[in-house]
Amino acid sequence: MLQLAVYKPETQPDWCPGCGDFSVLAGLQQALASLDIDPEQVLVVSGIGCSSNLPGFINTYGMHTLHGRSSAVAGGAWFANHEMPVVCTGGDGDGYGIGIGHFIHAMRRNANLTYIVMNNGIYGLTTGQVSPASPLGMVTKTTPKGNIEQPINPIALALAAGATYVARGASSDTKGLAGLIAGGIAHKGFALVDVFSPCVTFNKLQTYEWLRKSIYKLEDAQHDSSNIARAYEKALEWGDKIPTGLFYRIEKPTFSDGDAVLKSGGPLAKRSVTLTNDQKEALLAEFR
Ligand code: SF4
Repeated sequence: MLQLAVYKPETQPDWCPGCGDFSVLAGLQQALASLDIDPEQVLVVSGIGCSSNLPGFINTYGMHTLHGRSSAVAGGAWFANHEMPVVCTGGDGDGYGIGIGHFIHAMRRNANLTYIVMNNGIYGLTTGQVSPASPLGMVTKTTPKGNIEQPINPIALALAAGATYVARGASSDTKGLAGLIAGGIAHKGFALVDVFSPCVTFNKLQTYEWLRKSIYKLEDAQHDSSNIARAYEKALEWGDKIPTGLFYRIEKPTFSDGDAVLKSGGPLAKRSVTLTNDQKEALLAEFR
């Protein structure tokens, strides 16, 4: 197992003290170490938001892309080198709001990505506006009389859209989170790890105290993660008790298994881009 220090850059996170994202960063570093993945073998791609600053705080290849576009950019990187582990990181506003179209299509393709969503139920970077995951009735800067929209259910959405590894973790349990992330990276196919990651500055409802009272582990409830009907039932549980852990996992062909070019000849990034003289002549002939 690699030492955690190899994933720690000189740059320190600038998140608010107590932000749940610290635990997610530690969980990702622990997961990579447990899988013996060298820093130069993995790419971490993010969108925009507090949590999307994460690639700057981990010593791997990284890209800080456009708002909501992390899964699209990560998918492109994976097409170019489908043997490389690619991890997406971001928040609920980024992934479940502006980026939801890309998110759904990446799951539908079963692209081999691990998408970690630091779900804090609010837009933190822009100082506290309602997000697609904000609870009903929540007072925010943009909902002064309380949120009147139903929050998104990312677990049920991922099951419906074709994700083949669907999990929910919590920042209050870094060890459990590291295990879920490692499972997602080791899984061949699209893995969603939705994480309750408290925004201690702007979300005063979904706090560490709320987590302590509300969540329980599916592994303690004899949940069958190979059964999608049971996974849907658990995905709809929300209230006094909320499940965390692995909801669903199944082996299915990924996009690269079905694509004629990708499945033969290895990653595109490692192939020669030189044309033979005959190929050049054939290409030029098309334009003559
Ligand atoms: Fe974390 Fe919220 Fe602070 Fe952003 S504003 S760093 S999400 S606690």
